[in-house]
Amino acid sequence: MLTRTEVRRLLHARGAEQDELFAEARRALGAHLGPDILLRGVVEVTNVCRVNCEYCPMRRDNTRDNERYFLSGDEIVECAEQIRDAGIDIVLLQGGETPRTLAAVEDAIPRIRAVYGGRVEILLNLGNMTRAQYERLREAGATSYIIKHETSDPRLHEAMRHESLDERLRCVRDLLDLGYKVGIGLISGLPGQTLDSIVDDIELAGELGVHMCSVSPFVPAPNTPLQLSPQGSVDLALNVLACLRIRHPELLIPSVSALEKTSAGGQSRGLAAGANVMTVNFSRASDRQKYLIYGKDRFVVRLRHVEDLVRAADLRTRGSVFLGVNA
Ligand code: SF4
Repeated sequence: MLTRTEVRRLLHARGAEQDELFAEARRALGAHLGPDILLRGVVEVTNVCRVNCEYCPMRRDNTRDNERYFLSGDEIVECAEQIRDAGIDIVLLQGGETPRTLAAVEDAIPRIRAVYGGRVEILLNLGNMTRAQYERLREAGATSYIIKHETSDPRLHEAMRHESLDERLRCVRDLLDLGYKVGIGLISGLPGQTLDSIVDDIELAGELGVHMCSVSPFVPAPNTPLQLSPQGSVDLALNVLACLRIRHPELLIPSVSALEKTSAGGQSRGLAAGANVMTVNFSRASDRQKYLIYGKDRFVVRLRHVEDLVRAADLRTRGSVFLGVNA
């Protein structure tokens, strides 16, 4: 068991010490969940957002420049059919935070379940909602929910998102209480972030009792107030990921596209550091370039890329771990 002091020191690991950290993380993963990589298919349902995060090109203030889109229930189901045809049983519906998506997603969820004959994990990433709205989506058939906390430092959270950390964590607790499998996530290397607050992020996953947690290096995206800030270190993000795996070996941890965006081969290193999830993009080609999560030149993860990475790492893919458990 790593202490806080050891975690803090290991965030600086490089060279042989980093290799050993990653090897320990992979041993922890293998002992608790096995080495196989879960595949998710994501559909990006809207690029409109009511929030104004300092680091995100889809922030509210950019709406006038961004070419807005909303998928209908029919369009979401069409994309989900392609995910099924690819043999993937986790359908992630993701989008900016806006109440306009609720009706389309609520319409699509039972129809996606029907497409799969019920054997599907419906994973949502749609931001803060009321408890009653989460309850409606759960009753419609949603299984799990990603709600990234981004940083556990309340002042930095407020400065970066203009929203309160308390309200974000209220969402996490409501989701857990309603029986969702829940994922949080942090950005490492945010301007103004301390290493101690990153250690807090790692501890938070255990304190909340969540099932998933992501780590993304900070990307200074164009058309945002932080576009001239220094990029987050990929080595720091990978060390956070490895420490997270060792501290909480049962978590699902993705190797996110931001690792590849900031460093060629970054997602491969994510798997080496103990990640066990990869997400393939199934958004319509016409929408992909409008979903400006890291700007127009974001790295769009396709199935071939994931298959190549998994094969090169001498690993295999597997389906949802949550099916049969409140699915
Ligand atoms: S990071 Fe998410 S919540 Fe923040 S502006 Fe972008 S889409 Fe909205």
